[in-house]
Amino acid sequence: IWLPLGILLGLAAAAAMLMFIRSRGSMVGQLRDAIRRKRLVMHYQPIVDLASRRCIGAEALVRWPQQHGTMIRPDVFVPLAEDNGLIQPMTDLVLELICADMATLLQLRSDLYVSINLAAIDLSTDRFIQVLAHKLPQAGIESARLAIEATERGFMDVNSAQEVIGKLRAAGHKVLIDDFGTGYSGLSYLQTFQVDVLKIDKSFIDTVGTEAATASVAPHIVEIGHALKLKIIAEGVESEDQAQWLQAHGVQSGQGWLFGKPMPAAAFLAFLAQDRQKALS
Ligand code: C2E
Ligand code: MG
Ligand code: MG
Ligand code: MG
Repeated sequence: IWLPLGILLGLAAAAAMLMFIRSRGSMVGQLRDAIRRKRLVMHYQPIVDLASRRCIGAEALVRWPQQHGTMIRPDVFVPLAEDNGLIQPMTDLVLELICADMATLLQLRSDLYVSINLAAIDLSTDRFIQVLAHKLPQAGIESARLAIEATERGFMDVNSAQEVIGKLRAAGHKVLIDDFGTGYSGLSYLQTFQVDVLKIDKSFIDTVGTEAATASVAPHIVEIGHALKLKIIAEGVESEDQAQWLQAHGVQSGQGWLFGKPMPAAAFLAFLAQDRQKALS
């Protein structure tokens, strides 16, 4: 009796595996199709100056809309794009969508910047630098208005990332190190090459402003930023207590649900209009 049962279980496992591979396979196909048909959308999350609470910029975050109105999160499909040769067309589409939205955003606030997230592959060669050099002038957008977010984990090779980041900065882009503190590359790279801003990862901000904060590494991460004379953006700020703590510790800017969730471009325009009212009142 055990032998047939074992075979049966083995078959069931194989069938489940096959279904999993199939669903992944069709998901890749659907993603490829969505990129080709330009069916991704961008959401924008405000980045604010902690002292004045005014919006100074926004992070562009990609979304994959589904038929029934839901959105697939980038945590799910960006890795899929990375593994299936779709990052370059995806990044190009993301840039195209951002440029289209920025035309209107900059009319309302010409001093604003929008940051784009790059994948490891984008940072490994000059290709995207060429794309930027071509597309931004075409869209009439100055390079200072588009910041670049690079994660430490995103350095496939630190030397080529250094070269690409150097060229992006030379072209006038600000470079933000995303998810700072969660990478595996160590801190030494920050002494050999220049960046503009550290974005402290949400996981460190979570404990800030609570009793657990005394045991937290957040203050030390902030100190590293100060020692390197870099600007700091705190990610994932959800409470007023966190905002107060950060400001008291010399962090200039914040991003998180306290100030605004990621929203479609039209909603972000309305947010900016309100932000302007705030400044006038
Ligand atoms: P990230 O660049 O670190 O983006 C911040 C993430 O934290 C966003 O998730 C944002 O919605 C979320 N977040 C911000 N504030 C809060 C908060 O107060 N509370 C909570 N719980 N979450 C908050 P999202 O949009 O799901 O993006 C996830 C990741 O996907 C991003 O992490 C980024 O690494 C990647 N990603 C997003 N858009 C793109 C893109 O256009 N290209 C590439 N290559 N990667 C992207
Ligand atoms: Mg980011
Ligand atoms: Mg981040
Ligand atoms: Mg993060």
